[in-house]
Amino acid sequence: MNYRHAYHAGNFADVVKHALLTLVLAHLQRKETPFCVVDTHAGTGCYDLAGVEAGKTGEAQDGIVALLAAGPLPPLLDDYVAAVRSVNAGWPTLRYYPGSPRIARHMLRPQDRLALVELHPEDADQLRREFRHDPQVGVHMQDAYTALKALLPPKERRGLVLIDPPFEVKDEFRRIVKGLGEALRRWPNGIYGVWYPIKDPEPVERFLAEIASLGRPCFTAELMRHAGDNPDRLNGTGLVILNPPWQLADKLAELLPVLCDKLGAAGGSRLRWLAGEE
Ligand code: SAM
Repeated sequence: MNYRHAYHAGNFADVVKHALLTLVLAHLQRKETPFCVVDTHAGTGCYDLAGVEAGKTGEAQDGIVALLAAGPLPPLLDDYVAAVRSVNAGWPTLRYYPGSPRIARHMLRPQDRLALVELHPEDADQLRREFRHDPQVGVHMQDAYTALKALLPPKERRGLVLIDPPFEVKDEFRRIVKGLGEALRRWPNGIYGVWYPIKDPEPVERFLAEIASLGRPCFTAELMRHAGDNPDRLNGTGLVILNPPWQLADKLAELLPVLCDKLGAAGGSRLRWLAGEE
């Protein structure tokens, strides 16, 4: 396990993924009944953009730094921007970037719950320290796909599973499809968000076809940082949503071109239904 998200925190892929995460959770907030978020590859809660790792890559410059400098931003980004600001209270400029655990926590109401799964011992320890006094957050140092079996279905019967692997292993696409298939058998009506990198387009298309065959309505939202398909770099970022909330696709269709513009994404964006309703 060599992957450390601290090198990539706040990059363009994080911006798209986390903005979308807040839109899904805002939808879940519409009903008073509790919801649960399961974050299967949590990373840590917060990343120091002035730290050594972030400094080595500078990836946040083309992501959150560019976005915040490109205002005004549309109201659809209000929750996301508020989540970023919440970890920077007292700092005149952007110093920290929230990971998915902090973004999800920002969106919880007192009745909601967050389950964080992280296999790397250092990151899991950091999560435990960060959330140790928080009764709404549970930390599980476990393999993501094993945890899905243990945690689903959540007692709330409403909520989101975010699957955001590091893609360090060659068969990650296959593991996701298998894990999702098992998760859907346990909890067919949960909302699932799956992040994937776009490098070589061919394996991505095979992966999306397999997801479509799982039998649930789903669409994918993609933003291409670079035009072209050089397989040796991260050309773009994608997020598949299964069992998407009503009207989420419309909101995204409005938001993605704005993100493209603000992030200077040369390859554009697209939203495609893979299965089910348009
Ligand atoms: N979700 C985070 C966010 O949006 O801020 C970023 C997560 S990062 C892309 C992937 C994380 O998965 C890393 O922290 C890595 O240690 C963890 N990880 C890798 N393999 C795992 C596994 N089999 N089970 C759970 N976590 C794993």
